[in-house]
Amino acid sequence: MGGGGGGGGRREAIERELKKLRAEREDLDGRIRLLESQLEATPAGVSGAAAGIGVEDGACGGSVACQSRVSNGFKLDGGLPADMVYRYSRHLLLPDFGVEGQRKLSQSSILVVGAGGLGSPVALYLAACGVGCLGIVDGDDVELNNLHRQIIHKEAYVGQSKVKSAADACREINSSIKVVEHHHTLKPCNALEVVRKYDIVVDATDNLPTRYMISDCCVLLSKPLVSGAALGLEGQLTVYHHNGSPCYRCLFPSPPPVAACQRCSDSGVLGVVPGVIGCLQALEAIKIATGVGEPLCGRMLLFDALSARVRIVKIRGSSPDCTHCGKNSVFTEQDFQKFDYENFTQSPMSDKAAPSVNLLPESARITCRDYKKLVDNGEPHLLLDVRPAHHFQIASISPSLNIPLSMLEEKLSTLETSLKETGEASTLVVLCRRGNDSQRAVKLLHEKGFASAKDIIGGLQAWGQDVDPHFPVY
Ligand SMILES: [Zn+2]
Repeated sequence: MGGGGGGGGRREAIERELKKLRAEREDLDGRIRLLESQLEATPAGVSGAAAGIGVEDGACGGSVACQSRVSNGFKLDGGLPADMVYRYSRHLLLPDFGVEGQRKLSQSSILVVGAGGLGSPVALYLAACGVGCLGIVDGDDVELNNLHRQIIHKEAYVGQSKVKSAADACREINSSIKVVEHHHTLKPCNALEVVRKYDIVVDATDNLPTRYMISDCCVLLSKPLVSGAALGLEGQLTVYHHNGSPCYRCLFPSPPPVAACQRCSDSGVLGVVPGVIGCLQALEAIKIATGVGEPLCGRMLLFDALSARVRIVKIRGSSPDCTHCGKNSVFTEQDFQKFDYENFTQSPMSDKAAPSVNLLPESARITCRDYKKLVDNGEPHLLLDVRPAHHFQIASISPSLNIPLSMLEEKLSTLETSLKETGEASTLVVLCRRGNDSQRAVKLLHEKGFASAKDIIGGLQAWGQDVDPHFPVY
């Protein structure tokens, strides 16, 4: 009760004193900054913006490639040289990002696995935004059919390494960052060595075995993993193994059935879709690197391009029983290096190695050269193309009948009619894109009594290679 008024006067006095001291501190800080900048300008040697100009690390064996904490133009006191202030001014103006965010970004190292549709915007934005060290790993070369979605590559680079193309593009945008080129496919035998050098990993690949491999590698090395995927008109995104979020194996302890991954009628992808997901991956990587915002941990973003809908669903946290990130995990780096991811998922690590099935006896198959002879000799036959209708519209061998594999069973009467029209002794020759679905079709046709059915080995891909080099490849 008593002394209330006196206490209030004392508070005011303390507040006045605090205000005065703070003002003095600001004044002192200002003078310190001024003196430091004068000191920096005074010595004979060149200091200041010692930018980490792009360094190559072709062998990916550089001991401290990215952990050397490139200063990237930052002064030791955390301030920015004038050119950097100008370059990143729109970042610095963001109250939540500011100098501190830019400084953290410039000290971070991020590995982008895959310089394709997802990796293109990831690498471009990370370079432009000023990440300290950007690693890019990919073993492929640029192809013309990449360019509609892999926007980091230009026509002039077709036939050259994707990593070289991507790294050049990044350096053209920002010569003050360090770009490290890893010219090889990421594999269990080299992944630990590469990933170890970086703070954050972005999975911008497109196949299942690599997805498992990168997740396992990040778990072993305790790295956050920004994972994206885009197929057709849909994409998804999440952050694994960070702030209690799960690893890929927590969500998918076993891979999906093989059949789902072995169709010749591969899905396409609309160019912008990986672009959207890749931009979001870059954003998540920047948030993790700077500690700004709330990364997409324990949540998954689902993007549907057709309906322009974005949904975010909650996913499970890391599983205590997970065989890889769980507390009782016994999975070691040695186990990782020996693990056969292609066998585990029953699918290849590269799209190039098209999966092939072998369902038919040799007597039920012909090569495309033999088929060409059959046509040239005028032997009666019916060519049945079992690709989806929209594939058939891209290019086809004329004349041929298109009945997609998925509809074959219900359209057997159509087939029968067409076969009769070509003559009683006609051979039924079945074709698809790569020679897998045609085998499935022939197997079905044999069961349904079309004993003469044969499949063309290697499909239209083989036709383009061995018979007609002008046939459009897709
Ligand atoms: Zn896990």
